[in-house]
Amino acid sequence: MSEDPKLKKNVRVRYAPSPTGFLHIGNAQSALFNFLFARHYHGTMVLRIEDTDTKRNVPHGEDSQIENLHWLGIDWDEGPDKPNPKYAPYHQTERQDLYHRYILQLLDKGLAYKDYATEEELTEMRDRQKASGDAPHYDGRWYGRSEADQQAAEAKGLKPSIRLHLPENHEYSWDDIIKGHVTFNSDNMGGDFIIEKSNGMPTYNFAVVIDDYLMDITDVLRGDDHIANTPKQIAVYEALGLKHPNFGHITLIYNPKTRKKLSKRDKETLQFISQYKNQGYLSEAIFNFIAFLGWSPVGEKEIFSKEELIKLYDPTRMSKSPAYFDQQKLDWTNAEYIKKLDLDDMTNRVLELVTEGQTDVAKQVEALKLPDLREFVYQICRIYQSEVHKLSEIMEKVVYYAQITKSHIDYTQLDIFDHNEVVKVLKSFEDHVKALKPDVAAPDFKEMIQAVSRDTGVKGRNLYFPLNVAFTGSHSAPEIDQVLKLYSISTIIELLEMAIKNS
Ligand code: GLU
Repeated sequence: MSEDPKLKKNVRVRYAPSPTGFLHIGNAQSALFNFLFARHYHGTMVLRIEDTDTKRNVPHGEDSQIENLHWLGIDWDEGPDKPNPKYAPYHQTERQDLYHRYILQLLDKGLAYKDYATEEELTEMRDRQKASGDAPHYDGRWYGRSEADQQAAEAKGLKPSIRLHLPENHEYSWDDIIKGHVTFNSDNMGGDFIIEKSNGMPTYNFAVVIDDYLMDITDVLRGDDHIANTPKQIAVYEALGLKHPNFGHITLIYNPKTRKKLSKRDKETLQFISQYKNQGYLSEAIFNFIAFLGWSPVGEKEIFSKEELIKLYDPTRMSKSPAYFDQQKLDWTNAEYIKKLDLDDMTNRVLELVTEGQTDVAKQVEALKLPDLREFVYQICRIYQSEVHKLSEIMEKVVYYAQITKSHIDYTQLDIFDHNEVVKVLKSFEDHVKALKPDVAAPDFKEMIQAVSRDTGVKGRNLYFPLNVAFTGSHSAPEIDQVLKLYSISTIIELLEMAIKNS
């Protein structure tokens, strides 16, 4: 690299998604490192939509990218929604004329040429190469062909694609911000490659160069899967006589079990940012977690706010080796963030998930039609804040506690205790509850448990175990007096009677 990254000025970086799918964890990783890079150097972050592969674009692909980036806390200074007239438009499909202008320049100089080979011809060529043990490559059959040959092909109704001609045995190399020095030889790059398809659309490797150049992009940070594209892009820069930006190839995310690149088939790992959101991962936790996929600061600390990460970010600490997706670490990180939430904020976040209704459990909560859902959720958050790893667990608890009298409590858990003593405790509790004045707003259940202990002489485990089972279905329950606040008096009596009958 020619410049010290610590002294960078006028940085312009971009995140350039193709709307061929929803925001994936790998996309989010690229977006996040570009964002950290831009913000760390007080530069400009650009969002560009690379939508030229029109057949693969999916409805709402672009909206999903934008919505989920916003949710993650990643913003940009320029993009389709914030055009800078100097650089707009930001959709590649709206920039076709620009690309074509450069294509014409290359055709004029003889550095690019028209290729009239048909699909069948190309397939046959590749099959033949494979059969003889050669790496598939375009053999240059239309390079330097005469005007007459071209006219004959046109007369047959063939539409040409445009290929860039690669010089022989030419080195394309760059000092990668992450990988160090990387070199490719033009003889091993698959031959002259297409820069404009026969339908007039530029290919990715061409459009990206024109855009990065015209948008004054200084540093290109993108996934490692693009590393073989970079020499092709450098070839385009060279052919046009342009200086290329710095490149950095971010390590991909790997599945620790298969030790392979994370793929859509890895069902046990959530792939899309919206899934993390719907499961109740906090955006701050996901941001923190992704920042450690391929980068780490000095030291052992792992929990950092976005602002801290912006300050600390140092591209020279990006990792060359695979980033393994560690589910346990993600859950731990999320739990740490949940613990720090203010209870009202936590309640609001759970309620938002319920309103959005994107998961079965959210729909179940909604279907309960609880008269005071907010209070119910608030109490569950209060009880379980320090235990849960994601907010969906809070919704599961809501569903459970709201219908506790219909759940199948396993009363055999009480078999290890003296039956008479268990019944004595439960009955005493029932007496105390029944003795409550009807207008008492918030009974003091802690005091009530003490009173049961005094009246029965039962203490400790022998006292709490039966109450836990009766009121929660589990012997290891959180503070029972807090759980009791979730219930009406009639529910409490019903639960006690069920326990007395079945113990
Ligand atoms: N549209 C490309 C992608 O989604 C962008 C690659 C790049 O950043 O150059 O992979």
